[in-house]
Amino acid sequence: MSDPILDLFNHSIGVQAPWRVTSVEFSKENKRLDITVDYQDGTKFPCPKCEGKNTDIYDRDTRSWRHLNHFEHDTYIHAKVPRIWCHDCSKDKGGVLTMEVPWARKRGHFSYGFEAFILQLVREMPVLAVARLVGEYDTRIWRVVHHYVKQARELQDFSDVHHIAMDETSTSRGHNYVTVVADTQQRRAIFVTQGKDASTVARFVEDFSHHNGNLANIETVCSDMSPAFIAGIQKHFPDASLTFDKFHVTKVIGEAVDKVRREEQRTQPMLKHSRYIWLKNEHNLTSKQKDQLQTLRYLNLKTAKAYQMMLTFKELWAQPSSLAKAFLDKWYFWATHSRLKPMVDASKTIRRHENGILSWFDSRVNNALIESMNSLIQAMKRRAKGYRNVENYISMIYLLLGKLSFDLPT
Ligand SMILES: [Zn+2]
Repeated sequence: MSDPILDLFNHSIGVQAPWRVTSVEFSKENKRLDITVDYQDGTKFPCPKCEGKNTDIYDRDTRSWRHLNHFEHDTYIHAKVPRIWCHDCSKDKGGVLTMEVPWARKRGHFSYGFEAFILQLVREMPVLAVARLVGEYDTRIWRVVHHYVKQARELQDFSDVHHIAMDETSTSRGHNYVTVVADTQQRRAIFVTQGKDASTVARFVEDFSHHNGNLANIETVCSDMSPAFIAGIQKHFPDASLTFDKFHVTKVIGEAVDKVRREEQRTQPMLKHSRYIWLKNEHNLTSKQKDQLQTLRYLNLKTAKAYQMMLTFKELWAQPSSLAKAFLDKWYFWATHSRLKPMVDASKTIRRHENGILSWFDSRVNNALIESMNSLIQAMKRRAKGYRNVENYISMIYLLLGKLSFDLPT
């Protein structure tokens, strides 16, 4: 006769015949629940390799898995898992094969239920905090994360991707980079890889094809003005329209303004420590900084002149598309005649990339997505206080922004 309590545990763990829960031990002192699972006597297990029945049980491997807590008690599943001798496979040296169990992955330390719980937690808090919360090593938590991210990515299909954006973001150490490729229509990260050189685009292309992506489908690509990206994009997506991301275009000019300021502060000490006020949007400044800006910008300073040039440049994006080219020409003339070397250099950079800048007026690629992804990544990184290695960082970006769906029993 079946025991209703044991049946309840069968159900909660996801145990199926020939397996069944045979005992549940509860320790009040240790706040712990130990569930033992066993298979019916005389069960003939099929060979895990050839699925044939010409098998014998070779021996039994005693194993334990962490499972979801029951009423705040740490819960463990224990079972003796048979190792099978297959008479057919042993001929071609298959030898001893371990059976899989229905409640956990091969070689895993956790049940499926516990892994699903971990995946929920790591979306909300850093892995180290999850490890402390559940009392497990963080390396084991990472193994779960990597496994499911990899598995979920395998199942993704990119045949419908038409618009992509690429951006780099710094890793925890700050000197290394990962490149994130986003599908701007479905607003998800579809590829994350280490580095930001020419090979990153090639690696994306390979992965994209592996997921049914069609290179000829790609209509627009948005990126920064990195020569490596540009070369890669032109090589692999010759028909796509390339748009340089507004944020990065404006950043080139901001950096030039700062060069002018650094040079000038040698003779104008009042410019010291004023970097921020020139580069941030005015509405993000404190009232003290605003006052400082109002004083400095109307003085006869080179920095003030460069600053004005930057403000004017930003008005480009508000021009009607029919006037954008003329606006940019006028600005270019002004900047190249400014006798401010950094501004001349920056304007030449802008000129060289003019097609990709003006193509924004057709593609209207919204860089807000890339920027918001980047700020989510940075926030995640701050919460985690960095990552031990780049693989962990990449998996977390997929988990945060990849819109992955996990194939886990519920
Ligand atoms: Zn076999």
